[in-house]
Formats: sequence, structure tokens, C-alpha cells
Amino acid sequence: MTTIPAASTASVPTPARRDFLPFAPPLIGEEEIAEVVDTLRSSWITTGPKTKRFEQEFAAYIGATGALALNSCTAGLHTALVTLGIGPGAEVITTPTTFAASVNVIEHVGARPVLVDVEPDTLNIDAALVAAAITPRTRAILPVHYAGHPADLDRIGELAAAHRLAVIEDAAHAVAAKHRGRLIGAGDNPVAFSFYATKNLTTAEGGMLTGDAAFLDRARIVSLHGMSRDAWKRYDKGGSWFYEIVVPGFKYNMTDIQAALGLWQLRKLAGFQERRRAVVRMYDAAFAPEDALELPARRPEVEHAWHLYVLRLVPGVLRIDRDGFVEELRQRNIGTSVHFIPIHLHPYYRDKYRYQPDSFPVANSNYQRMLSLPLSAGLSDADARDVIEAVLDVVRRHRR
Ligand SMILES: *Cc1c(COP(=O)(O)O)cnc(C)c1O
Repeated sequence: MTTIPAASTASVPTPARRDFLPFAPPLIGEEEIAEVVDTLRSSWITTGPKTKRFEQEFAAYIGATGALALNSCTAGLHTALVTLGIGPGAEVITTPTTFAASVNVIEHVGARPVLVDVEPDTLNIDAALVAAAITPRTRAILPVHYAGHPADLDRIGELAAAHRLAVIEDAAHAVAAKHRGRLIGAGDNPVAFSFYATKNLTTAEGGMLTGDAAFLDRARIVSLHGMSRDAWKRYDKGGSWFYEIVVPGFKYNMTDIQAALGLWQLRKLAGFQERRRAVVRMYDAAFAPEDALELPARRPEVEHAWHLYVLRLVPGVLRIDRDGFVEELRQRNIGTSVHFIPIHLHPYYRDKYRYQPDSFPVANSNYQRMLSLPLSAGLSDADARDVIEAVLDVVRRHRR
């Protein structure tokens, strides 16, 4: 028999939670489970009535003219680029401070991603730098509403109008976020949401694309093999077996199993957001007095979706760096993450476009000192207090 050695407690600082607090667990209730079971017991398990209802209820919630349910946000961004005819020879201006999917899709269509640096406070794409990066080949601007704080849509919209560019918003973090009182996704331009497991509203995997009606009609075809639905109408005597491929499209549809989750998650979203804001208020109150910590920015014209609570370590105050801070929290059973490793540091992009770490100094320097604290609708006050206690303990012990 092997004996399992007792865990060493020598290096475990107090206070530490007894169980590990995950960074962002999903919050799935009995309603979601029952709805999924109902779908599984029905005769329709893939794209069908529940997906249609989810699209309608999501569009109604956002105030969008319509919505297209897909199997991911990545699929939504890719579908938007293809639908707008953006391909080889085109340039799309986007941010280095994002998940790789936002930029990978630009490569997928054969266009060139043009990265510009971010604003020091919000870490959203810097509209002044967007202006300077526009060329005759630019077709679109792809802002990411980082952490749930909307990007500067006023100035981005002005630039797009002046140069006849599309604006494709990566709203993976921004369901329920508002810009000047209007929910993200309520406009006419393409906006892609994510319902990935860690996001504010989840279908395990899933996404939604909003935009104007004509765009969504075409996007729907692109996202499902390029099968024309109009063909069904034109040949109604031919029966339901008839279809025509009008473009080599993709297989990006959402299933009714996912939509079953989404229907209930959407109904609970307001409550989820209220809970996130309550945790944020606790974090803000506890961390604001600490000179070692820089709190997340928020601008007066936005309502933050609080997908992420990103702390930044103020340089020179602590003896440990971000990696040390993450490790100290892990030893106290607090899970964290880092959003994001900037695009230009990933080998594919670094090598293809010959980037240096300081090609985007704001993105790079903030990456070095950022960490995302646990934030989810399932976090209790006691959980949040554990996070606060652990963070403050690390700060106290490692002050210079
Ligand atoms: C999660 C995420 C995505 C990708 O979403 P999927 O639904 O997993 O495809 C895209 N962009 C950002 C900024 C994200 O955080």
C-alpha cells in the first residue's frame, strides 16, 4: 500500500479557504436542467423551436431587430466577416488585448489583422490609434468590449462613417453592457456574443450574432452550409427536401439543447448581473484604499457588464510580481486568471508580423501586471470576503 503524504502546511499562509474557489464556475439551475431534459425527451434535439425562441427572446431583450444563434462567438465573428465579403487584400483593425479568437477569424478569411494599442485605463482599443491605422485597404474595425466595459463606440462610429468601414463588435464580455443607455448589440452593425461556460450567460458553448435584418438573412445562410432558404419558398411544390447551396458556408448552428440552457439563463440574467455588481462593490470598497492595487476603470457613459474584475498591480509597491501574486492567491485557495496574453506575443502572430513585446507598449505593460479575480453570479458574500482577505493579506506581506 502506498501512503499519501500529508500535504505540507509549512508554505500555506493563513488565512486560506478550506476549498479552492474557482475563477468563474457556471451557475446552472434546476430550470435549465429540466428544460434540457425536456428537449432530450422531445423529437427535436438540434436547431429547432427552442433555438428560434431563444433568438427571439434575446433580440427582444437587447432591442435588436433580430438575432442569429450560433455554436460560438468565434463562429459569429467569422460569419460576420464572410457575410460582409471581407477577405484577401482587406485589413481589419483590432486590439491586441483580447482572446485569440477575435484575431484568428481575420486570418481565417485571409484578411490582415492590423493591431493598434489600447487605452491605458479601459484597456479597450484606442480610437486615436485606429484613426492613424486606416488605409485604403481597411474594411472594418473590430473592437472588443474588454472585461465588459464598452469600447469608445462614439469615436469608432465616427471613423467608420467617415471611411465607410464596417464595425464588427466582439461582445463576448458585453452581454447586458450599455453604451450611452443602449444595450450593446442594439445597433445595425454586426455584434457577436459568447455563451461559453465562463461567460455571464452560458449555454456551455454558444453564441449570438445581432445586426440589421438584411445582414442577418445573409449571415444565416453563411452559417449553415450556404443553404438558401429562399429556394424553399421558390420551389415550394418541390417539397421540403429541396435546397440550393449559394455559397460554401459553414456549420455553425446552435442546438435546441444549448438553447434550452440559454432561455433560462437569459431570464436569470438581470439577477446574475445584480449579483456581479454586488461583488464588484465589495471588491471596490476593499481595494480602493490600497496603493498597491489599481482598480478597473469605468467611464461615465457606460454601464459595465462586469464579466471580469481585473486588478492591476501598481509598479514598485510590492516585492512580488503578478506571477508571484497569482501563486500567493493560489496557495490561499483563490483561483485567478489573466486576460489576456496579448495577441502580438503569441508565436504565430509574433513571427508572421514580426512583433516585439513593445510593439504595443500599453497592452504589454498592463499584461505584465494584471490578474482577474473570481467573479461570477454564483459567488457568495463569504466567497468575496475570502478573496478580499487573501488579496489584502498578500499585499500586506509583500509590501516593500
Ligand atoms: C470567450 C471569448 C471569445 C470566444 O468566444 P467563444 O464563444 O468561445 O467562441 C471571443 N472573444 C473574447 C474577447 C472572448 O473572451
